[in-house]
Amino acid sequence: MENKLGNPQKTIEIIQKYQFAFQKKFGQNFLIDSRVLDKIIGAAEITDEDLVLEIGPGIGTMTQYLAERARQVVAVEIDKNLIPILNETLGDFQNVVIINEDILKLDIGELTEIYNGGRPIKVVANLPYYITTPIIMGLFESNVPIANITVMVQKEVAERMQAGPGTKDYGALSLAVQYYANPYIVANVPPNCFIPRPNVGSAVIRLTRYEKPPVDVEDSGLMFRLIRASFNQRRKTLQNSLNNSPDLTFTKDQIAGAISALGLPAAVRGEALTLEQFANLSNILCKIKG
Ligand code: SAM
Repeated sequence: MENKLGNPQKTIEIIQKYQFAFQKKFGQNFLIDSRVLDKIIGAAEITDEDLVLEIGPGIGTMTQYLAERARQVVAVEIDKNLIPILNETLGDFQNVVIINEDILKLDIGELTEIYNGGRPIKVVANLPYYITTPIIMGLFESNVPIANITVMVQKEVAERMQAGPGTKDYGALSLAVQYYANPYIVANVPPNCFIPRPNVGSAVIRLTRYEKPPVDVEDSGLMFRLIRASFNQRRKTLQNSLNNSPDLTFTKDQIAGAISALGLPAAVRGEALTLEQFANLSNILCKIKG
């Protein structure tokens, strides 16, 4: 392909041709390394039956790789200045739809219905880092049918998503992600793989969506309130964190009783609990609430 991107020369050529000005507020760091692109595409396990949703195609680098493999790519880009560029770099592909929109405002369920008959889609992106968490949690919580999400994120965020109990990276994000999906860090990616270079390290993470969450929770809203309260005051005991939370109305005795019913020591900290233990704690407290 004549206009194949994924290297510094072509990227600079396109940027200069259109006099494109990078917008920091949109988290624009374009990939210029074909080995990284191959890794992302490989990890996403795209087949010619798949509908792929790409968030933030930029100048269309990864979109080209995706379009070569997928049945259909829907690429959602917020920056209107990139649309003429995308029309050129993706001009050879009949299976790419470009939508000039903010991904956080788009009805992805409707998109899935239109382009994939409601069947599970795959999401692939080099994400704008300033909205990584709302994008990922938005996708999970919206109940859009998703098979997997393979994304470039800030390295620390990838580590937090994959972290387990008792580690420094473990927190509300680890538990939220792991309730919906099995995370796996595919590769670490240094700043020199992008134009312009970000001032943080990056990593590709694949989140394989569970058909059913790995724990049984009667009220997942309550479980996530407990999780947030526990990690808001991470150095405090679980009991104190839950007592102090304005989002929870249980008495001190109810909380102490629930922790003890789980067989945990009274001085345990939230960061020591597994997802299953948070689920059990939530189920015990849910019964009290009636
Ligand atoms: N995919 C390209 C690549 O890998 O070279 C660009 C990735 S760049 C890190 C992030 C892209 O997301 C930019 O093109 C940016 O304009 C776009 N973006 C930022 N915020 C967005 C939003 N809310 N909705 C859709 N796209 C967004």
